[in-house]
Amino acid sequence: MRKWLARAIGAPASTSFGRFFRIVADAKARQTWADRLDDAGLILAARRATTAPGRRAGHEPTADLLAVLRATAQRTIGQDPFDEQLLACCALLTGHAVEMDTGEGKTLVGALAAAGFGIAGRRVHVLSANDYLAQRDAEWMRPLFESLGLSVGSIGQHTDSSTRYEVYRRDVVYAPVSEVGYDVLRDRFATSDADRVRPELDVAIVDEADAVMVDEAMSPLVLAGSTPDLAEDFTHADALVRELDPDVHFAIDADHATVSLTDPGLDLLERQLGGVNLYEIEHTGMLTKINLALHAHVLVQRDIDYLVVDDTIKLINTARGRVAHQQRWPDGLHAAIEAKEQLLVSSPGTILDTLTVQDLLRGYATLVGMSGTVVAVAEELAEFYSLGAGRVERRLPNKRLDHPQRVFLDDHARLDAVVNAVRDRHRAGQPILVGTQSVAESEKVAAALAEISIEAQVLNARNDAHEAVVIANAGEFGAVTISTQMSGRGTDIRLGGPDERDHDRVAATGGLAVLQVGRYPSGRLDAQLRGRSGRQGDPGTTLTFVSATDDLVQTNAPTHLLEKIRRYGDQLDQNALGRIVDQAQRIAEGIRRDRHRDTWDFNRAIARQRDTVLAHRDSVMRDGLARAELTGRVPEKLEELETASSVETVAELVRDITLWCLDEQWSDHLAHLSEIRDGIHLQALAGLNPRDEFHRIALREFHGFFAETYVRAAAIVEDVAPDQLGQGITPLGLHRPSATWTYMISGNPLGNPMDRAAREAGKWWRSRVLNIE
Ligand code: ADP
Repeated sequence: MRKWLARAIGAPASTSFGRFFRIVADAKARQTWADRLDDAGLILAARRATTAPGRRAGHEPTADLLAVLRATAQRTIGQDPFDEQLLACCALLTGHAVEMDTGEGKTLVGALAAAGFGIAGRRVHVLSANDYLAQRDAEWMRPLFESLGLSVGSIGQHTDSSTRYEVYRRDVVYAPVSEVGYDVLRDRFATSDADRVRPELDVAIVDEADAVMVDEAMSPLVLAGSTPDLAEDFTHADALVRELDPDVHFAIDADHATVSLTDPGLDLLERQLGGVNLYEIEHTGMLTKINLALHAHVLVQRDIDYLVVDDTIKLINTARGRVAHQQRWPDGLHAAIEAKEQLLVSSPGTILDTLTVQDLLRGYATLVGMSGTVVAVAEELAEFYSLGAGRVERRLPNKRLDHPQRVFLDDHARLDAVVNAVRDRHRAGQPILVGTQSVAESEKVAAALAEISIEAQVLNARNDAHEAVVIANAGEFGAVTISTQMSGRGTDIRLGGPDERDHDRVAATGGLAVLQVGRYPSGRLDAQLRGRSGRQGDPGTTLTFVSATDDLVQTNAPTHLLEKIRRYGDQLDQNALGRIVDQAQRIAEGIRRDRHRDTWDFNRAIARQRDTVLAHRDSVMRDGLARAELTGRVPEKLEELETASSVETVAELVRDITLWCLDEQWSDHLAHLSEIRDGIHLQALAGLNPRDEFHRIALREFHGFFAETYVRAAAIVEDVAPDQLGQGITPLGLHRPSATWTYMISGNPLGNPMDRAAREAGKWWRSRVLNIE
């Protein structure tokens, strides 16, 4: 009923935390009692005060527990939790997503809640945005946990596997969500329990909950393994593409998402290849390579999309502007870029398995989260995670002044306005943070400011720790800092510098001015950038500069409105222009929501099948299921081998062969399903519902999965010679990947420019070569 009502009046379904005021007030009354306890007394009191929530959240913490947590925080990290923080802690301990503005102290809230769960005997993962924050927060909060008898640790990209195992056994683990995800994935492919790092998915406290649970929920973590195959050679295609003339031989579309050969371009290539017809089936391989090489040269840019470090390609996650470690593009494109940079082509890989962030999070027994903006996605949190979301108000009134956005007809006019605004404010010493949409744009603004002799610190998010330092100083008198969306996440901007030495002088200039260049694809991201200013009752200002040429407007605003801007732009007033921008953002948000639902639906079918396979795999690994299965298929062969060695040796061999077959087959099945999924939109043309069709086909394709595995395994066992026994599976020609890495792909069916480019190429190929569509 409440949900219905909320929807009817257009507000998201948010939860009220008013009921926790009482516990917080009671905790205050118990403070003198808690303050008098010694450290050992606090541990005892904490245990006693915990109403044994068992394996589930949902129990309200007691006033005694809050009083103990508060006293411990004071003693160990020298911060006295505010009532608002205790309230938020109650909300987390009872299984909610909590909205708290930037600077209100969510790090401490997360730690208090983690301690609360930990005291109740739960294993807690505090999931943060990156390695740097995970490590920083774990170290910062360590005395709090240890004083309560809880162990704590952190995991990052460079943590080795034995340390991971050990850290996962601690009470509280700080880690980026992707690290836990990759551990889950890698564990699936272990051939013995000893090789697993085994993260226990009990309680997750998700920082930046809306970004992780909603925006990134559908991006798959993809685990790939090396294959002994040789990579495709792109040198020829690369050389051909280098000779092409941009104005004649290929065309780039307006939004820089696709590039395609023109007829003269095709003619030239066909001549250079000795007069072939590239559309003939025997030449399609070359055509595909040429297209990929063209993408590598035209659409993928060094230092924007990737860096070249130590003769290897390091991808930059452009949405976040940071280097994505151990990531690759799908093979063809990766090899084409290596050819472009004249690097050695690395060995290709095969996708072993994938896991969406959403599936990972749903695997936790208890899931809670916090962020500056969760109420706006309350409905999705309820729908996908059964999670209630609510807001904890600011401790001090908000004194920030948000100016209405200004819309410009083109980028030049906008840049001028931004530069002028920076100059005026900079003169008075007001610290300025310019938020841009991309690394390229931040460099453009910096260059324009340099022309008027304003030196800006540019953050392009290539190094989290370095950024944290720069962002921490962004509130100093006269500082000008330019950032992209995610840079310096989780770091507080204090007026007058990190120690607030110069606070009052900076406050007198008006506090931090946030200048936003272009709107983000969601209102939440806009709000997060604005939230950098005016923290904890400080003064502050925000200004937003939009250009009608911004991607957000151009890709999302309805065509007739774009046409209106084009024709009558200079006659439209700011309100009319602003409404178009707002509408474009709402459309972008809607597209993302629908996409989330769609992807979720497709993934569910795969997830169910994966669960079945993993359960079976576990029985093979632990219970000797493989031996029993194969006895029914190749009994004589097994006896022969057992006579030649021993029952144990054969059982182990049979187990390893079966595991290999299972993994191989799952990887094939997954590739097959993704092909089906890519082509599923064709079903819509035939009048069928693509989702239903996908479920139907996925089910059909899975039928007989295990029977097929054992047929493969039996065939391999049949070929084993007695002298190959006891040496593992390698002499049989079965290789396990020697290295694993992750692919950079986006779960977004509309995709980033690269995905779109790849899809366009696929469509074009299908239509030209296969004559369909
Ligand atoms: P958020 O993540 O909500 O933006 P942080 O956790 O980064 O906020 O905290 C903002 C700043 O406030 C930090 O510098 C932190 O040390 C400080 N802080 C948080 N809670 C308290 C407290 N109870 N007393 C004093 N300072 C606090």
